[in-house]
Amino acid sequence: MIKLGPYEIHRIEELMLPYAGYADLIPDMPGELLEEHRDVLTSHQLQAETGRIVLSFHSWLIRTRHHWILIDTCIGNHKIYERKELAAFSQLDTAYLTRLRGAGAAPEDIDYVFCTHLHFDHCGWNTSMIDGRWQPTFPNARYLCHRKELEHWSSVQDDDYDVGPNSGVFDANVQPLIEAGLLEGVDDGYEIEDGVRLRLAAGHTPGHTVLELGKEGAQGLFSGDLIHAVMQVYGPQYTTVFCNKGEEAAETRRQTLERIADRSTLLFPAHFGHPHYGRVESTASGFRFIFAP
Ligand SMILES: [Zn+2]
Repeated sequence: MIKLGPYEIHRIEELMLPYAGYADLIPDMPGELLEEHRDVLTSHQLQAETGRIVLSFHSWLIRTRHHWILIDTCIGNHKIYERKELAAFSQLDTAYLTRLRGAGAAPEDIDYVFCTHLHFDHCGWNTSMIDGRWQPTFPNARYLCHRKELEHWSSVQDDDYDVGPNSGVFDANVQPLIEAGLLEGVDDGYEIEDGVRLRLAAGHTPGHTVLELGKEGAQGLFSGDLIHAVMQVYGPQYTTVFCNKGEEAAETRRQTLERIADRSTLLFPAHFGHPHYGRVESTASGFRFIFAP
């Protein structure tokens, strides 16, 4: 557990795996940048034998004085993904909910579920297979995502060329929430409570949004897929193959890093390997990442 002012922050892990190399995930990133910062790429961030980036899939759970807030709900159990590149994520059966309970929150306790965006690995536990159909996992929660994100994914068809790996996700992970009246599309600047703000950070997807925790300059920034892998702090201009609009994603990333650099703000990304979070410092040529001790 991480204590941050009045907040408690827990990381709820679903799974961790060496996924793909930098050349596959971020094809434009020059090999020299990786060489230059080899010291950052420990075995927790890059598997040496295969050159694959170690990706963690986890939620961040915040306990405020008033609420339990769950950020991003990973992949989920028993979701079926038929595409070859998603084989590692299909039909999972993990102890995610047990880990959530271990942090002190039963599914019924969650007050808010915030999805930074609606890719398959950020909204999976929104629903569970109960009595033969997908139903809300967190029955007492209000589920939030940006209005634009909701509009985007509700208007694309599963056979649209750019849906790709997200095929079927809306029907299984989002539609049941709409039917239960639990999902709300919100605008930029929405406050869950005093000091817990949502801020649009688009590019990865049209409505990708981050959560800022704390007053007067955030104490914590929960950044979703604004940054997938640590070398994007060192080269924010390089974008992953998963980004909807690469240039916009890069500009949003650079602006965000600038905003939090050299402050006490902790950055909580969705996919960094152990220790999973840290802070950003500016350097003569850009930024660097200081992992939490
Ligand atoms: Zn992701």
